[in-house]
Amino acid sequence: MDLEISGKRAIVLGASRGLGMAIAQSLASEGVTVFAAARSRDKIAAWAEGMDNVHPLQLDLSEIEEVDAVVDSLLKDGGVDIIVNNGGGPPPGTAQTAERSAWLTFFESMGANLFHMNTRLLPKMKERSWGRIISITSSGVEQPIPNLALSNGIRSAVVGWSKSLANEVAADGITVNVVMPGRIHTQRVDELDAAAAKRTDTDVKEVAAKSRGTIPAGRYGKPEEFADVVTFLASERAGYVTGSKIRIDGGSIKSI
Ligand code: NAD
Repeated sequence: MDLEISGKRAIVLGASRGLGMAIAQSLASEGVTVFAAARSRDKIAAWAEGMDNVHPLQLDLSEIEEVDAVVDSLLKDGGVDIIVNNGGGPPPGTAQTAERSAWLTFFESMGANLFHMNTRLLPKMKERSWGRIISITSSGVEQPIPNLALSNGIRSAVVGWSKSLANEVAADGITVNVVMPGRIHTQRVDELDAAAAKRTDTDVKEVAAKSRGTIPAGRYGKPEEFADVVTFLASERAGYVTGSKIRIDGGSIKSI
């Protein structure tokens, strides 16, 4: 299947490692010019060495000046066709103990600043009557994950924003979708397993085996499997998929 996106321009956020990096690499392999952004430009430059169509950018999503500077530089060159909204997750904790200040801090970087960036990049997509906006959230937006109240709450706001925007711009040839990872094997997942092992004084292999046991597929997903779905959503071929939430979770979410 020809995805017909060679020559398009994409910005992928949170692209120094993990899911963002896998998506940036997958889009680049389809001939897309990828602006890969994260707090550490050097980390992106390291994996992108020798890839002519990947351009590393420094961007901390919690700093609105940096967000605007990146948007300004992209708009100078005509904007982008594809936006992949991604970044780090908030710290764990319960809804009862989450401080007002934490809600505000993480809503700013995971919600408001992202929405602002997309709003500024939209007019160029509208001019070309073509665009793809894909936001990485979590399985927690359909099945809240215990002790991740900030993530469950703020990512649900991203879903509401995504669906609202999808309705507004569908007739402009712009699709807006959410993808929900559930235990895709990134460094972050290894770190979470290691932290759980320490907390419960259990061997990390045991923690990971228990976690895999809760997934119908019996394993963690591969970042490439996740990136392939996102790349399809970014393609010409997915033009009629919009306003959707797509699970990439090996069957983890229990509801249908
Ligand atoms: P990760 O922590 O490995 O990668 C996050 C990326 O975002 C990194 O490149 C990091 O540098 C970047 N980032 C963090 N804070 C940033 C900021 N303020 N500004 C710009 N970039 C920033 O995580 P991952 O496993 O690749 O997952 C990506 C996202 O999906 C995370 O938000 C994660 O919580 C969420 N998620 C992942 C899974 C999974 O199974 N891997 C499951 C549910 C949710």
